[in-house]
Amino acid sequence: MIRILEKNIADKIAAGEVIDRPVSIIKELLENSLDADASNITVEIKNGGKSYIRVTDNGCGIDGQQAELAFMRHATSKISSAEDLDAIHTLGFRGEALASICAVSRVELITKTADSKTGRKIVIEGSQVLENTAIGCPDGTTVTVRDLFYNVPARQKFLSSDNSETRRVVDMVSRISLAYGNVKINLINGERTVFATRGNGNIFNNIINIYGNNVGKDLLPVDGEGRGFILKGFVSAPSASAPSRNKQIFCVNGRIVTSKVMENGLEAAYKEKLFHGRFPVAFLFLSMPAEKLDVNVHPTKKEIRFDDDFEVEDFIKSNVRSVLMKKDALPQIRSEH
Ligand code: ADP
Ligand code: MG
Repeated sequence: MIRILEKNIADKIAAGEVIDRPVSIIKELLENSLDADASNITVEIKNGGKSYIRVTDNGCGIDGQQAELAFMRHATSKISSAEDLDAIHTLGFRGEALASICAVSRVELITKTADSKTGRKIVIEGSQVLENTAIGCPDGTTVTVRDLFYNVPARQKFLSSDNSETRRVVDMVSRISLAYGNVKINLINGERTVFATRGNGNIFNNIINIYGNNVGKDLLPVDGEGRGFILKGFVSAPSASAPSRNKQIFCVNGRIVTSKVMENGLEAAYKEKLFHGRFPVAFLFLSMPAEKLDVNVHPTKKEIRFDDDFEVEDFIKSNVRSVLMKKDALPQIRSEH
């Protein structure tokens, strides 16, 4: 017999597409804070985010009347028509994150806009609104998420150890913090500050702040432009390669992405310069016309599609290659290695 699923079951299934572990919640909340033009964001986790996640921002806040609406599926202030999908300028646009998060956890939202006298507090658990009250609070938004998957035990079982969930969170927040170098981002794990960026927009300072001096010391600056594309960032000298790709960070129009096309372009530039099993370290920031790019490929928005893969791959390859060639041309630097 075919039947339409009850709303709360349908909600949990839909949530599973966007939220599979703590890091996906943190990514969505951080993106909301960035879309809200926050200049200061604090991310706190406990137990790898499984028991506790809090993201606090000083962004635009949500109007009190609308705060509850933000938790409805397909509720978004970021797009209003199908044409808007052709050129997306915000990180979010699907109106799914808060709906998904509150379906599978206990959420508290505290928010205030600058022109409202009081703020608003919403408590919502398993998509049920338990509280919606006025509250005094600073401008901006704080979302606290507790007990992820408390109502979906099957999913809870698949979460990894605290350490391993923490590693994923640190990696994600690091990447996003790099992409948003002019936003102060503070990551706290339990009682400990993992890192705090200064928000002064200096990519190199942020790399050192987040990844440490060791990663910073062998980086070469990339700065290329052409055909509406701009590429900025840093790549490692061939002598400072890494045993894996986990320090290859690609950012397209402010969005952290995984991209085979960009990876291929990068690695093609190192062809014959690296041994098998060694990979360049790279922090690459690509800006390009929004209409040459589709970000609505996957619910987590990590994957993107370029209109012309070859154009992007070639742009990255030629710009990185010229950086490496310039380095080769400088005998005094080469002799250091
Ligand atoms: P989306 O980001 O795709 O629009 P979300 O479910 O993540 O969907 O958020 C729904 C809406 O709630 C957003 O469109 C925005 O208007 C509002 N919102 C969520 N988080 C924040 C925040 N930190 N600051 C201001 N507004 C927010
Ligand atoms: Mg969002």
